[in-house]
Amino acid sequence: MAEHERQHIRVAVIGSGFGGLGAAVRLRREGITDFVVLERADSVGGTWRDNTYPGCACDVPSYLYSFSFAPNPAWPRSFSGQPHIRAYMEHVTDTFGLRPHLRFNSEVQQLRWDAERLHWEVTTSGGDYTADVVVSAAGPLADPRVPEVPGLDSFPGRVFHSARWDHDYDLRGKRVAVIGTGASAIQIVPGIQPEVSRLTLFQRTPPWVLPRFDRPVSAAERWLHTRLPATAALRRGVLWGIRELQVSNFTRHPERMRVVEKLALSHLHKAVKDPVLRARLTPGYRLGCKRILLSSDYYPALARPNVDLVASELAEVRGSTLVAADGTEAEADAIVFGTGFRVTDLPIAQRVTGVDGRTLAEAWKDGMAALRGTSAAGFPNFLTVIGPNTALGNSSMILIIESQLNYLADFMRQLDTLGGKAALDARPSAVNAWNRHVQRRMERTVWSTGCRSWYLDANGRNTTVWPGTTAEFRRGTRQVDLAEYQVLRPPRAPRRAVPATAAEAAR
Ligand SMILES: Cc1cc2nc3c(=O)[nH]c(=O)nc-3n(C[C@H](O)[C@H](O)[C@H](O)COP(=O)(O)OP(=O)(O)OC[C@H]3O[C@@H](n4cnc5c(N)ncnc54)[C@H](O)[C@@H]3O)c2cc1C
Repeated sequence: MAEHERQHIRVAVIGSGFGGLGAAVRLRREGITDFVVLERADSVGGTWRDNTYPGCACDVPSYLYSFSFAPNPAWPRSFSGQPHIRAYMEHVTDTFGLRPHLRFNSEVQQLRWDAERLHWEVTTSGGDYTADVVVSAAGPLADPRVPEVPGLDSFPGRVFHSARWDHDYDLRGKRVAVIGTGASAIQIVPGIQPEVSRLTLFQRTPPWVLPRFDRPVSAAERWLHTRLPATAALRRGVLWGIRELQVSNFTRHPERMRVVEKLALSHLHKAVKDPVLRARLTPGYRLGCKRILLSSDYYPALARPNVDLVASELAEVRGSTLVAADGTEAEADAIVFGTGFRVTDLPIAQRVTGVDGRTLAEAWKDGMAALRGTSAAGFPNFLTVIGPNTALGNSSMILIIESQLNYLADFMRQLDTLGGKAALDARPSAVNAWNRHVQRRMERTVWSTGCRSWYLDANGRNTTVWPGTTAEFRRGTRQVDLAEYQVLRPPRAPRRAVPATAAEAAR
């Protein structure tokens, strides 16, 4: 499309999950209304729109896993299910007047920095724009990862990923294979076990599982939180504080996790009486280095007679026979992949081209890095929400998102104070310094010393997790330090020589 056909906007936000909606609320609060939220799907919700598998719920308590500026006194359970979280996000969208900004069915296909005009060219499936600033909230867990399994094409039954649940397929009475034992799979297994005729779970590594103390929120509690909002804030504060106190176990004293391992083992012992099954479910690595999973019905479901645990990864599919790496075979009518997401090779990074013509994926080929988890060098006026080293091991990602929104708000203010057309590009030296600081802190953490996990990239570097408390991250993102950025201005138009004489001018 020609340049003049692109609509110019001040800010383009990519994605309408918690990150994108939060950015939209924050921009409006800053008095900025000239922005759009570009969403490839046809409704808001991100994670909580896409994950509709049986049993899908948050594993951080709802009173903490929600926006601080939009408290919901009416959460139905301490760990609410996907329909309620999605409804909450729709409610936030309406309450904060975000609908006029939403552009659905608008998948961002390309973002190109125009160094002459100092703006981004934004190409989407639903229309094209130019934008002064881009906020990428395309999600850390938005694009499913399905492993390449030899012979998968030959499988005659249904195959789907946990984040793309096939609700048209009736699992009742079917032989279902679930691949993976991560956060989604451990919710799916008890969700479908009572319905299927046979459930075969392929487990590469057993996770550490702690009980999830989920319960309905009583009418009295809801009444109290509605009448006295300070009680809901207090509840949130306690939930937050407990998790902050746990952080040093992950970051500085992984050996203390032994105590928690004992709790997890006793949880396992109570639910699984068969010693052979128990042995297969006992992790052989330090608790915390992979996501600690919370479930009170996973182990009981695995102990049911219609469930088989294959303690080996799926290696091959031969027609309807699934073959594990250890040679175990199982017949299945359907395969559900609970194999996670593209975390360290984010698809959006391939679509963003910065100042020197390199894509973000190329810039990050040796590992993702961004100043304060937000700004990558060479990508001016481009901020990532939940960027490199911002994921948490034990607390609510919404705390991180809100910190980055503070940073975004200050970024917009700084651009205003610079005056005229200007852009801010993170200095490579500042990005490197930040990254060195993060990686140095990472050395002693449980994520570096405990095991190999999906937190690590192809080079074995942890570019996903934040190795500190959420309070530390909040402090680090309160303000933009202009010294960490280069201020870009539009290149000057070449001066034309002034003609000396009228005759010369006429020539
Ligand atoms: C099943 C599940 C349970 C979870 N539970 C918890 C929990 O209990 N606590 C917790 O802290 N975290 C949890 N998480 C992590 C969760 O991803 C984050 O908490 C949070 O929801 C991320 O929000 P987001 O807006 O950054 O990303 P998302 O919610 O993933 O939203 C990204 C949006 O961007 C859109 N998008 C992507 N690419 C493009 C493109 N090119 N163009 C246009 N739109 C695009 C997507 O369609 C999506 O709507 C969970 C994740 C999953 C998958």
